[in-house]
Formats: sequence, structure tokens, C-alpha cells
Amino acid sequence: MADELRIGVFVCDCGSNIAGYLDVKELAEYAKTLPNVVFVRENLYTCSETGINEIKAAIKEQKLNRVVVASCTPRTHEPLFRGTCAEADLNPYLFEMVNIRDQCSWVHMQEREDGTNKAKDLIRMGVAKAALLEPQQDIQSEVDPRAMVLGGGISGMTAAMALANRGYEVTLVEKAPELGGLLLKLDKLAPADVDAAELARQQADLVRGNPNIRVYTSTSLEEVQGYIGHFKVRATTDGVQQEFPCGIIIVATGADVLKPTGLFGYDGEKVINQLELEERFRAGTFDARHVVMIQCAGARIEERKYCSRICCMVAIKNGIEIKERSPETTVHILYRDIQAYGVENEMLFQRAKELGVLFIKYDLARPPVVEADKVVVYHELLGRELSLPQDLVVLSTPLVAAEDNEKISKMLRVSIDANKFFLEGHVKLKPLDFATDGIYLCGNAHYPATVREAISQALGAASRASIPLAKGVMTVEPIVSTLADEDACRGCGLCVALCPYGALEIVRTAKGRKVQVIPVACKGCGVCASTCYQHALAINSYTDEQIGQQIGAFLSS
Ligand code: SF4
Ligand code: SF4
Repeated sequence: MADELRIGVFVCDCGSNIAGYLDVKELAEYAKTLPNVVFVRENLYTCSETGINEIKAAIKEQKLNRVVVASCTPRTHEPLFRGTCAEADLNPYLFEMVNIRDQCSWVHMQEREDGTNKAKDLIRMGVAKAALLEPQQDIQSEVDPRAMVLGGGISGMTAAMALANRGYEVTLVEKAPELGGLLLKLDKLAPADVDAAELARQQADLVRGNPNIRVYTSTSLEEVQGYIGHFKVRATTDGVQQEFPCGIIIVATGADVLKPTGLFGYDGEKVINQLELEERFRAGTFDARHVVMIQCAGARIEERKYCSRICCMVAIKNGIEIKERSPETTVHILYRDIQAYGVENEMLFQRAKELGVLFIKYDLARPPVVEADKVVVYHELLGRELSLPQDLVVLSTPLVAAEDNEKISKMLRVSIDANKFFLEGHVKLKPLDFATDGIYLCGNAHYPATVREAISQALGAASRASIPLAKGVMTVEPIVSTLADEDACRGCGLCVALCPYGALEIVRTAKGRKVQVIPVACKGCGVCASTCYQHALAINSYTDEQIGQQIGAFLSS
């Protein structure tokens, strides 16, 4: 006979986050009336050491075999509570979490009674589902300890070095003939006036000299198969295709500088962009008496709404460089807003002003007009038009997503944003990871970054990637798809085509073509189970019966 159900419910005040807006005492009293609930406790903070110890003690003393916590979001706290159950020798998948903070107290701050009633509904549904929960075992899978880094700019090289110095074999694939990326085209890096190309070359020498790194330049990515721990990357160098097995992939494919064709009379001669100005600095061919820089050239407009973040500092740095090379040259920077965040950038901004760089605010509705030997601009603050002499106009153009981002995102099954930059798994919780496990990102592939930011992100991505590499085994939550009814599966492949994570495949079995789940790749999104017309697939802990039970509980109020 199955064990008697003994459900414990813990209702959290979350300080005043929940208790300030809902009647938590009433919720606790209500929970006591629900079927199979044998223990209820209100906690000031369920996630505090006191709260955790209370859960553990109740599991032991009250012989609880299901636990429900009504508190905040499972995104941040579910692992903690599952771990608590495990420490008290209760299978962690006999735990259910109800989010009465985000879904009740935060969204119904002004409606105490309605918010409390909604929380009662959610707790009743959580308890109903908990009754049908089954114990699950974590899934384990070995991890190939080799790493793949896509991109040989500063972020890719930094990530490769960080991993190689920890003893992992790294393959670095770069589509250009040389390592170095955008740095090779730049002059000096602020604030320390580091020679950009020299830095790139030094780093490339270190990468090439590292016995743990194999570098493939002029190499294009062809195909990526597999999942965390077991990727296979196919790439072609000089017509020769090779396959690289690896456990993790770091995307550091960089970005391009927008070529401002058609903007402000751009001609690459008298109207150039900041990159071309830096090329002139490097070549020693800079020669101008009146320089006008125009910020946001091609950025923060309808077609390209985002701010590229780094162009203001590039303009300020280059304005300083011009003034230091040739103090008599006039430099006007026409801006919409100045992005000079952080102490060092602010100091550079001040230094530019001290050297005589002049800043003029313009409005997008009245953009500067470039004429043969002058730039006419409406000065927003003075409220009148100014005519600035010029013999060189420099456009500060944004970084744009690399052309092949879309193609690579499809190969890797990772997301890109509306501007085709790669999109992290979560802006706060997974800033260097993709939603797909085992793939990480850094540098301009994600969004325009300074060299310093790109290096920090690369070190961070390498650290994140080191976790599965160091463990050698991936442990994955078993909330994944399962072939619950093998006979029902017709092997049609519809679910395989729809799975966003490549976690399904069709295999030949004694019973014919059947789907097979790769549990370690599955994210439990439910797309397959909800589209299979044969109801052959189910998601652990989200079975039809469990969800039906929740709906029934909702309707039973
Ligand atoms: Fe088709 Fe369903 Fe089988 Fe997938 S599980 S192959 S959708 S019958
Ligand atoms: Fe793919 Fe299904 Fe897993 Fe979603 S739940 S990741 S569709 S196998």
C-alpha cells in the first residue's frame, strides 16, 4: 500500500515583501484545511537558516513526505529548498514551490484581500500537485574535458588562455587570417594609452605559444551537434573539413563597426569614421586643422535603436589624442548624450575639456548638416545654429552584430536579440551563459564592450565553462521529457523538429522508429509533450495528471 500522504506547507513572510501586502496568517490557517496537509508553519524568512532548519526538523519530526513552500520565485530559491529536503533525507523532487510574492503580493500590492485570495488558490493548487509528485533521480552525464572557443579577438584569446592555463585542451577557431580581431585596427586604448595592435599581437603570441591551445585561423564554422559535455564542432580550413569533439563552447565572435555609407556625406576621405581616424593615427597620416566629430552616427535611430556604449569614449579619447598631437587643431564633438560612465572615463571627459575639445549637444530632430568646409549644427543649449569650420568630419558609428551571428545562432541553437547580438540566458542570473547548457558568451558578440569589459567577460565565461570541465560529470535536474508511452509514439519526428534544444532524436528499436530523449540536453520546456498528438511524451513533475490535478484544485474553490 502506498504511504499515507503527509504534506507540510511553509508560508513565508519574506519580511514585509509578502506579509506587508497579504494576510499571511490567514494563508497559514487556510493551508491547514487542505487535503493531506499535516503541518503548516509561517516563517519570517523561509530561506534563512532558521527557516531551513524548521523545514528539516518538520520533515523528520512530522514524517513529512511532501513539502510545499509558498514564498518567492523558484528561479532563485527552488534549488535551496530542494537541497533542504535532500539534507533531511526526503527526495528533493517531492518538493513543490508556490510563488506568492511575484504573483500575488507584488502584483496586487493595493488589493490585499484579492491578493490573499489568489495566494490561497495558488497554495491549494500547489498542495494538490504535491500529492501526485514522484521521487526522481538526478541525471548524470560525463563531460569531454576539451573546450572550443569561437573567435580569436581579445575576448576569445583571453578565454582560451584562461582555460588552457587551467590545463584544459582548447581549440580556437577564427574566421580571419590573423588573431586579434578589432584590436588590430585600433590605435591606442584608453586610459593607459596601450598600443592596441601590439597588445593583440602579444596576446596572439601567448595563445600560439600555449601547448594546450590549437589555433585554426581562416576557418569557418560548418556545423555544431550535441549537447553539454558532448559537442561536435565541424569547421573548414582551406577547404579541409575537421571535426572537433568538445565539452563546452565559448562564443566570442565579436562584432563589426558600422560602415556609415550614406550618412553625413561619408566618403572615407573627408568624412570618415573613428576606426579610419585611428588607422590614420597609426599610419602617421593624420593631418587636419578643424575636426568635427558626430556622435550616434547610425545609432539610436529608428533603424538601429540601441546605444553602442563605447563610441562616446572613443570620440573623447581620439579628441584628446588630436589635441596632444596638434594643440592648434580645433575639435568639436557633436553629441546627443555623453556616455562616460565610471571614474576613469569621467576623468578623460574632463581632460578633453581642459585640452580645449568643445562639446555641442544636438537633437535628433535637427541633426548636423555636413557641408563642403563646415558643419552646421543647431546648438540645443544655446538655442541657435552654429557654423563650425571643418577639414575632417569623423563619424562615431556603432558596433553592429557580426554578419554570421544568425547562422551561428541556428547552429548552436542559441538566441540572438532584435539587433542580432547573441542573447544571454538571463540578464542578471546567467549573464555569461546561454539558455542552452554548456555554451557561454563574452565580448562584443553579446553587446558592444570596451576592451576591459571584454576581458572581464572572457575571464568570467572561462570560469563558468570551467565548472563542467572540472567536474567531469554534469548533474542535471530530472525535470525533463520522457517517453511515457513508447507504444503510442509513431516516430513521426514532429517533436524532434520542434525541440529548441536538440534534445530529441529518432532511433530504430525492436518496435520500429521511436523518439529518444537526450535527458542532459533537455530543458523541460514542454514543447514536445504539448505538441505530440499521440500523448507519447510527458515531462517529469509536469505530467498531464499533475497539471490536471492543479486545474481541478483551482476550479474546486
Ligand atoms: Fe511523433 Fe509524438 Fe513520437 Fe514525437 S513522441 S515522434 S511527436 S509520435
Ligand atoms: Fe526538447 Fe521536449 Fe526537452 Fe523541451 S521538453 S527541451 S522540447 S525534449
